[in-house]
Amino acid sequence: DSQLNTNYTFDNFIEGDSNRLARSAGKQIAKRPGGTSFNPLFIYSSVGLGKTHLAHAIGLEVKRIQAEKTVLYVSMEKFCQQFQEATKSNNRNDFIHFYQMIDVLIVDDIHFISGKKGTQEVFFHIFNHLHQNGKQIILTSDKSPVDIQDVEQRLISRFKWGLSTEIQSPDYTTRLAILQQKMEFDGIALSEEVLDYIAKNIKTNIRELEGSLNSIIAQATFNKKEITLELVEKTLSNLITNSKKDITIEYIQNLVCDYFKVSIDALQSKTRKRDIVQARQLAMYFAKKYTNASLSSIGIQIGKRDHATVLHACKTVDNLFETDKLFKSYVDDLNKKLTSDI
Ligand code: ADP
Ligand code: MG
Repeated sequence: DSQLNTNYTFDNFIEGDSNRLARSAGKQIAKRPGGTSFNPLFIYSSVGLGKTHLAHAIGLEVKRIQAEKTVLYVSMEKFCQQFQEATKSNNRNDFIHFYQMIDVLIVDDIHFISGKKGTQEVFFHIFNHLHQNGKQIILTSDKSPVDIQDVEQRLISRFKWGLSTEIQSPDYTTRLAILQQKMEFDGIALSEEVLDYIAKNIKTNIRELEGSLNSIIAQATFNKKEITLELVEKTLSNLITNSKKDITIEYIQNLVCDYFKVSIDALQSKTRKRDIVQARQLAMYFAKKYTNASLSSIGIQIGKRDHATVLHACKTVDNLFETDKLFKSYVDDLNKKLTSDI
């Protein structure tokens, strides 16, 4: 059993600038495993960008073209466990022999080997044996070979023998294509506006992109509602807020003041003039929404108010947002400004 996940194919692996090189190397390898200069193929990226998917896709493609090849997918975590068990039960040689028989060995999350001396030693021997015999090795990692810590130099240097290639964060077009594919797969339809919003706002991680879509669908099903932009904004607000940790209260105050053409001094003063109160309340509302500051700390920074005032401001904004069209348009405008790239 090759342990390959048949859901992760080349067909449903969307190509983009972010993964083009890795994908194309993978395709070439699948045609001639062990017969290209990409040995090992070392794919690295941060989480959720498609390493595991691509690794399975290569394995499946090898099997599709040459069913007689022995392909094995294993995570380094599992490899370590197996090795420990083999050592305990005095089956080290069987363990090594088993791995040396494989034509295409795919080891996912190789960085997990860091700090594990015994596993590094045994993997070194398996690697050498396979490589010398023209067998294909495919490795994935969350770091480039040079950045992996606590791994013997002789292993690191072997990781660099073939091709090391990074998968980067997908660009907007690729994100949109991934969303569209998933939508088709799930048999649902979303408006262009909604897709655009998701693709614009969830940028760093494809797993998160898929997760967002799932939670939106779940929300809509649960509430028997149509999937509107508003519902999507609500569902994703947490995720998006979390990725905007660099928005500061100062930034929010400046933006709000700029938008309503009022001075910071006025915003921070005790004046109860209506337009200034409104700007102040909005600043508090956005500070609550986009920073991790507590209500009392927001109050202190925006005109030395107490936490009850901030809470009241947030409630007022929520109410007006529902009932006052013009006010809603202010909130939407400011939201857009705050969530566009900074
Ligand atoms: P990693 O191993 O780098 O953490 P995964 O391979 O687990 O990432 O990918 C996370 C999710 O994103 C998976 O569901 C995978 O199918 C999906 N995914 C990643 N890249 C693509 C892509 N290019 N096209 C379609 N889906 C993708
Ligand atoms: Mg993975």
